[in-house]
Amino acid sequence: MDKKRNRWNISNSYSKLPKKLYSKQQPEKSLNPEKIYFNSNLASELGLNKFSENEILDYFSGNKIPNGSIPISQAYAGHQFGRFTMLGDGRAVLIAEHISPHNKRNDIQLKGSGKTPFSRGGDGKATLSSVLREYLMSEAMYNLGIPTSRSLAIIKTGEKIFREREYDGGILTRVSSSHIRFGTFEFVRNYCSKKELEIFFNYVLERHYPDLKSTKNQALNFFDAVMENHVKLVVDWMRVGFIHGVMNTDNMGIAAETIDYGPCAFMNIFNNETVFSSIDRFGRYSFGNQPKILHSNLVILANTLIPLVSNSEDESIELLKDRIDKFSNYYNEKWYNMMFNKIGIINPKYEDRILVDSLIELLSFYKADYTNTFASLTMDSEYDDDLFKQNDFKKWRLDWKQRIKISNNCEENFNLMKLHNPIQIPRNYLVEIALQNSINGDYQKLNELLKIISKPYDYNKQTKLQKTPLGFDDSYKTFCGT
Ligand code: AMP
Ligand code: MG
Repeated sequence: MDKKRNRWNISNSYSKLPKKLYSKQQPEKSLNPEKIYFNSNLASELGLNKFSENEILDYFSGNKIPNGSIPISQAYAGHQFGRFTMLGDGRAVLIAEHISPHNKRNDIQLKGSGKTPFSRGGDGKATLSSVLREYLMSEAMYNLGIPTSRSLAIIKTGEKIFREREYDGGILTRVSSSHIRFGTFEFVRNYCSKKELEIFFNYVLERHYPDLKSTKNQALNFFDAVMENHVKLVVDWMRVGFIHGVMNTDNMGIAAETIDYGPCAFMNIFNNETVFSSIDRFGRYSFGNQPKILHSNLVILANTLIPLVSNSEDESIELLKDRIDKFSNYYNEKWYNMMFNKIGIINPKYEDRILVDSLIELLSFYKADYTNTFASLTMDSEYDDDLFKQNDFKKWRLDWKQRIKISNNCEENFNLMKLHNPIQIPRNYLVEIALQNSINGDYQKLNELLKIISKPYDYNKQTKLQKTPLGFDDSYKTFCGT
């Protein structure tokens, strides 16, 4: 094991689990790798910032495996658009579990590194454009302060891959506190023995929720913790207008980090029904449905825990049901608290919910830009759009001002708002220009955008609001982009 700082610090734990849970897997070699991005900030955090250019190319193209590591692809299942399916890492290889200098275990995974036993007819590859998109969006989420997997490197493989036409292939090095999914629990519950489920559960507890080890009903408390953390996560998505796009249970990390960036996008004009994903024809994963989908996914997770909660199935179901029944109130409370932060209410009262509800109604009715409305309120300035011209909104603003003034001095309120209302998000039209230019070899726009999203709450330096071209989002479609 290489224990030197600023180098790999490998510890294989997943491959000690029952063999059904993974398949030993070497990534395919890249013939002509080219470094496109190496995230040096993240590399420093991980203690991986002393690699030479050749080492970066070797490790993150799949051409070399860190010493002592056992690369694997993980098995998992999942409910995709409501249907149970056997899945697994079809185009990803976990090349290392790396312990950072702060003693944190990280999965280092190559995405797009070739076929695995879970590829199900796919080529195991990823387009350069799709991995650039993931790099950009995950960086945006990280900078917004939202738990997420991160992107350490992007390599252009030099290979052409085929989708509806020929594209450049890319490999993303993804870093996550693990890639264990709700769907991994579904896999173990459906295809493994009770003993194996127990071993797996103990592993997950030790890795992600060690404080619960000393508690009486670990599985029940684990469920509560996962629910709490996911509510926090989804509330954060709702705060910034993030639409994940494919909230299938295989894309929900047990550590409650945003993972599996596919057709995700940010909502500009406020509308709960917003959907950008080309495959989401019925709006299942629309902006406003995200909490409902979280609830159904938690029910699926709860089902997998039944054998662990109690020896009596009936009792398990009753206990888990009791927890699930708390979801709606719990979510609502957290969502309103988040909205109170967005409008700077420091000591909220129950009746303040009316202020939130009426603002949401106004945003929706006047088709206002979600980010810019809150940024303008934060700066206490007018925004040149329909909403700000309306008498009912002017009235709302007066009521709101009245409310925050009576409770506190306003500076504190605005400071609170500055922490919760981004002024910059990756606008869809900017994302598309940046990606289009990049696949033609010009990375300037992407670099500019990475800079724009690097300090989303910096109200000192940036006061100019982003305007999206009228109508752009109406026909905007995102793709799984495999
Ligand atoms: P995703 O839509 O990225 O969450 O992927 C859903 C499932 O399809 C996962 O099991 C992936 O590993 C698999 N998959 C996606 N793209 C490919 C590909 N190009 N080749 C093989 N498997 C893939
Ligand atoms: Mg996925």
